[in-house]
Amino acid sequence: MTATETLNPQSPSQVEDFDVLIVGAGISGVGGAYHLQTQRPGTTFVVLDALESFGGTWLTHKYPGIRSDSDLHTFGYRFKPWTSAPIATAGEILKYMGEVIEENDLARHIRYNHKIITANWDSAANRWTVEALNTATNETRRFTCGFLWMCQGYYRHSQGYTPEWPGMDTFTGQVIHPQTWPEDIDLKGKKVVVIGSGATTATVVPAIAGDCAHVTVLQRSPTYFIPGRNRNDLAEMLRELEIDETWIHEIVRRKILHDQAVFTKRAFEEPEKVKSELLAGVRAYLGPDYDVETHFTPKYRPWRQRIAFVPDGDIFKGITAGKASMVTDEIDRFTPRGILTKSGEELEADIIITATGFNMNVLGDIDFQIDGQPLDFSKTVTYRGMMFTGVPNMLWIFGYFRASWTLRADLLADFVCRLLAHMAQKGAKRVEVQLRPEDKDMELLQWIDPENFNPGYLMRAMEKLPKRGNKPEWQHTQDYWREKDEIPAIDLDGPEFSYS
Ligand SMILES: Cc1cc2nc3c(=O)[nH]c(=O)nc-3n(C[C@H](O)[C@H](O)[C@H](O)COP(=O)(O)OP(=O)(O)OC[C@H]3O[C@@H](n4cnc5c(N)ncnc54)[C@H](O)[C@@H]3O)c2cc1C
Repeated sequence: MTATETLNPQSPSQVEDFDVLIVGAGISGVGGAYHLQTQRPGTTFVVLDALESFGGTWLTHKYPGIRSDSDLHTFGYRFKPWTSAPIATAGEILKYMGEVIEENDLARHIRYNHKIITANWDSAANRWTVEALNTATNETRRFTCGFLWMCQGYYRHSQGYTPEWPGMDTFTGQVIHPQTWPEDIDLKGKKVVVIGSGATTATVVPAIAGDCAHVTVLQRSPTYFIPGRNRNDLAEMLRELEIDETWIHEIVRRKILHDQAVFTKRAFEEPEKVKSELLAGVRAYLGPDYDVETHFTPKYRPWRQRIAFVPDGDIFKGITAGKASMVTDEIDRFTPRGILTKSGEELEADIIITATGFNMNVLGDIDFQIDGQPLDFSKTVTYRGMMFTGVPNMLWIFGYFRASWTLRADLLADFVCRLLAHMAQKGAKRVEVQLRPEDKDMELLQWIDPENFNPGYLMRAMEKLPKRGNKPEWQHTQDYWREKDEIPAIDLDGPEFSYS
């Protein structure tokens, strides 16, 4: 099949065949399509996404203030310069992605409203058969592909995670999860309680505080924040010198990555010092009399969870202006008027926003089979957090937590293209990762070490995720600075790879 034939969507009974099927049109999937088209011209491929357009995370989340917490020099693709302020709104990210699609004529490869339900690997044919529900027509569409490129992200887009608290049904106001933000909500003059203290809270609170009568942030435990200006001085200086934007992008990326590497190393080597620096940054906004100890001093060491960047300290400005306040306590129960905390305080609310995180989706909530047998990913071992033992011709883009996700999406896209080229050169139709003889007795551990990184959504899903080993080859190291050299150098004829 030629690439142009993908322009013509199938009739329901047809099966379409592609070399590669990309699951998801978020930042990873659109990047994958770009790299595939650029590095492997002539490869036929289709991108399927359950949503009505591209963008993934940046399309789903529509709560006020929605923005990145990474800088876009590194969250943006390697191949397309980011030319605005480093922290971007969802709208700006969507515009940037739209340009990538348009400039590279990728739209003809993407099918929206295609929710993949099943994927079955057929060893006789060496192909995946994928069934997707066209959510616009309710018809099932079938595709086959030689390689499945999983860019479905890590959380379920249809619904966020809201714990069950006693008395929730008695609350007379409205409960909203930021992931499914109602378009018609009017917050003017309302008393709002936001549960949770992660990046979402840091974003939504300053965006709504001006409208609301008052916003109370109720957190069980504090989070680290880095306040700073939403401006990159180096980029601005280079712009003043009329340096080409392509150069600026590359230079600024390198500088940011260098600074992040130094910060990450310090967070592990001298956590107490880094902690006190982070807290000093918060204190500078809140003043000496504010109880930073109770509300902004996390129990964990820096970098065990993502550290939220707060542009221009906006959430802290809301607190000092009296528009927002912090309560660090646990929920005893919901009441008709709000929330009763364990220490006995009732927080009155017209609206409660549950910024309580995600439901992890393990590989797109797709019903996977290998030759008709159900595939249980928890029984597999991951190769570098991207491939899985016993699962042929598939790769998952799972980005970084301590660096921008897209850095890994670009890196692994290069890897997929190299792997496909290698298979073509060998005449192989199937590639699978396998434990080497020296790995046979390797201790198998959970997907990620909770001592290293432990957000709630990962902890809740750990049993369903693939296992990792105790060697770098068999785990997602979450270390961009190591992987940027190691992944391009992987020996594709090494004993971890089996071809046929
Ligand atoms: C509010 C928010 C802010 C974030 N900010 C940052 C940040 O600043 N920096 C950073 O590095 N990371 C950030 N992240 C993490 C973020 O999710 C990733 O960085 C990145 O956007 C993930 O891109 P993705 O394309 O891999 O997945 P997603 O953006 O999750 O997109 C996956 C796509 O796959 C589709 N899909 C899933 N399952 C199926 C299926 N079965 N069939 C068809 N389609 C399917 C979905 O519809 C979706 O469109 C943030 C996350 C959130 C929620």
